[in-house]
Amino acid sequence: MKVFKFGGASVKNATAIKNAVQITQSYKGPLIVVVSAMGKTTNSLEELWSAFVKRDEKTISKSLNKLVEFHNQLLVELFQEQSSSAKLFNESLSKLSNYLEKEPSENMAYEYDQIVSYGELWSTIIFSGALAAYKVNAKWMDARKIIRTTNHFQEARVDWPKTKDLVKSTILSAFEKDMGLKCVVTQGFIGHANNGKTTTLGREGSDFSAAILAWATSAQQVLIWKDVPGLLNADPKEFENTIKIDRISYKEAIELSYFGASVIHPKTLKPLQNSNIPLLIKSFVDPKAEGTIIDSDESADYQQASYIYKRNQLLISISPKDFSFILEDHISEIFSVFSLTGVKVHLMQNSALSFSVCATMKKTMLKGLIDNLSEKFNVKYNEDVDLLTIRHYKDHVFPEKLKTKKVLIKQRSRSTLRYVLR
Ligand code: ASP
Ligand code: MG
Repeated sequence: MKVFKFGGASVKNATAIKNAVQITQSYKGPLIVVVSAMGKTTNSLEELWSAFVKRDEKTISKSLNKLVEFHNQLLVELFQEQSSSAKLFNESLSKLSNYLEKEPSENMAYEYDQIVSYGELWSTIIFSGALAAYKVNAKWMDARKIIRTTNHFQEARVDWPKTKDLVKSTILSAFEKDMGLKCVVTQGFIGHANNGKTTTLGREGSDFSAAILAWATSAQQVLIWKDVPGLLNADPKEFENTIKIDRISYKEAIELSYFGASVIHPKTLKPLQNSNIPLLIKSFVDPKAEGTIIDSDESADYQQASYIYKRNQLLISISPKDFSFILEDHISEIFSVFSLTGVKVHLMQNSALSFSVCATMKKTMLKGLIDNLSEKFNVKYNEDVDLLTIRHYKDHVFPEKLKTKKVLIKQRSRSTLRYVLR
């Protein structure tokens, strides 16, 4: 078994969908193909949801029309009139329209999941139809019957044992019953709570869905198809001359993502690491190319410096008003304020009289944080610093940014060099 994941960009229009179908065709089964919502559909559905909870009728119908137009256009480009995909899409759409007629409940997160989950339902309906048109023996399955979660709407947590059972009785049993079946197509991002209500796993959750299904089927590998050649050693929007990483360990990928790289989320890597299932990141533009492989092999981790650049960081320096040393009890007090105000600390530095952190937080919480800390401490802060991390810096090239910006803090460990810049 292999698990594929096609993200929004890989199915954003008819050409992209055909390409994804051809990629699926070129592999041997059995496959599980996880698809996320097409293009920017999830963003549009979020607009629809926020109009719905505000009962803003005008925006509801505008957002819905936009979504319908986009999907109808795709249906027209891909299929003859009256395709079964068009029929299924329209049925699904009328369920959503009926839902939108109702009064929203108080629970916004619940409403989010009931509405935003349609993106993945539509993309898989269309993708299954496209596979059928190309004579690929595929079966559409409803992830809301397979992935069991808690009822933490909008960021549901997985019930692993139950999900494994459900995968067995749905996906695995389908492959057993039909020897000719090549692939099961299902939705990323969505699941269900034990009362049957739809849940979602958090934005960008489709990679995680692929990992869950791979774990539950003890798959041989997961392939995530992207519009980049693989993992890069830096964000091309921030750095020139980025290099593709050919191979990296789960451990190192988790480290990079901890330092702020938008590599694969640790949540996705964990189930794969636990069962030692390799993850391949491959380009849907050039499917034959090698891509990046992530597995337990750590031998290549030190070969390449990686650069991680995080903007809009908050730098806070805290010192006790009575000039007492920064001691453990101060630090624990400071951290309980951080935890109350949702501060995510990325770097810490202390001296005898002060303690500084580089962090991110919701802008709306900043005043609460400063007021709270100012009772006991002198607090200075700067809302607009950048954090540069260079991992495996041994042979690194100094990025331009270090020449043009002022270094406020520099930290060096054996493998990592970090700068707070302004
Ligand atoms: N469609 C969802 C999102 O855009 C899930 C995903 O793409 O992974 O967040
Ligand atoms: Mg998406």
